[in-house]
Amino acid sequence: MIFETHAHYDDEAFDEDRDLLLSSMAKNNIGTIVNATSSKKTVETSIELTKKYPFIYTTIGVHPSDCAEMDDDELKWLEDKLCYEKALAVGEIGLDYHYDEPSKEIQKKWFEAQIEMARKASKPLIIHSRDAAKDTLDIMKALHTEEIGGDIHCFSYSVEIAKEYLNMGFYVGVGGVITFKNGKKLREVVEYAPIEQIVLETDSPYLSPEPFRGKRNSSLNLPYVADKIAEIKHMSVDDVIDITTSNAQKLYKL
Ligand SMILES: [Zn+2]
Repeated sequence: MIFETHAHYDDEAFDEDRDLLLSSMAKNNIGTIVNATSSKKTVETSIELTKKYPFIYTTIGVHPSDCAEMDDDELKWLEDKLCYEKALAVGEIGLDYHYDEPSKEIQKKWFEAQIEMARKASKPLIIHSRDAAKDTLDIMKALHTEEIGGDIHCFSYSVEIAKEYLNMGFYVGVGGVITFKNGKKLREVVEYAPIEQIVLETDSPYLSPEPFRGKRNSSLNLPYVADKIAEIKHMSVDDVIDITTSNAQKLYKL
């Protein structure tokens, strides 16, 4: 079955049909889902989801764009949540320079603090990095994150950057962008990366693959991503699904 490594089912985009949709996952070959968190509020809503659905797990972390108000109390609160049995990883954490706020200094501070939190808890890192390739890599090397491991979610950088993370033992998260007309860079990364270091993700409700680009995304669209990877790697779709599922189990230590 397909392993969905990154989605946001607590998003309001699913308010109308969340139950119906999630109840249809198993019969559509979607086995396990990791729901990613980005703020204190989503940590709470995501944990609620995991209590309702046995096949849903959660990450714990504050997204760089949501860390402006973060403080030591909140870090301690996250650390406590990380003890929950269905909390598998620290994320999504990282750097996002797409917008000017929060400042780079604030983003870096809480990125580093959450990396240390993951190290202490022996949980993998789910990294969000946008328009911040160099700073993200610099921090991750300086803090020896190769000792912690994890996944670069929604990988959006070049083969050169991918090489660095692959050498550090990280997985690259591949989703709908691989089907986009302008997704050439990601297709090159997938061509280069060993299949043993690729995991499937949607980032639902965002980034629907073709032919649904622009519409609400869900894990039910993962076969389109698997198809494209199979085509690029000259493999069968079944092998892509089997191998990426086993990768995801290793990534999340399930
Ligand atoms: Zn996400």
